[in-house]
Amino acid sequence: MSDQCLFCRIARREVDAGVVFEDDAVLAFRDINPQAPVHVLIIPKQHVATVNDLRDEHAELLSRLFLTAAKIARDHDVADEGYRLVVNCQEGAGQSVFHLHMHLLGGRTFRWPPG
Ligand code: 5GP
Ligand code: ZN
Repeated sequence: MSDQCLFCRIARREVDAGVVFEDDAVLAFRDINPQAPVHVLIIPKQHVATVNDLRDEHAELLSRLFLTAAKIARDHDVADEGYRLVVNCQEGAGQSVFHLHMHLLGGRTFRWPPG
């Protein structure tokens, strides 16, 4: 955990967020600036800054993020119609919070390629 990291602070429940799921390894909460009717962020409780910082030891944690995404999609009734999972890595790709997070976006149609 990192003292100043916003998402570590959310994971420690020092900052309010609309938490929709939690287990021992991951936390999922509503994005404060939603880009779709369903916009949930899924984070590891452990601080990892970017995809570039992932190591072999994080393999199980990564599977937990994906399994949580699939569960949240089911719980929010977007699994069948489709949803998008996004992980921005570094500022050039739009990463603004440097604690690894997966965006789950659903409830509308999405274009490809993304902007
Ligand atoms: P990124 O741009 O790093 O991929 O995504 C960061 C996301 O975090 C953005 O979609 C932004 O709206 C969201 N965000 C930033 N600050 C907060 C906050 O304090 N609470 C919540 N729930 N989401 C936040
Ligand atoms: Zn953090």
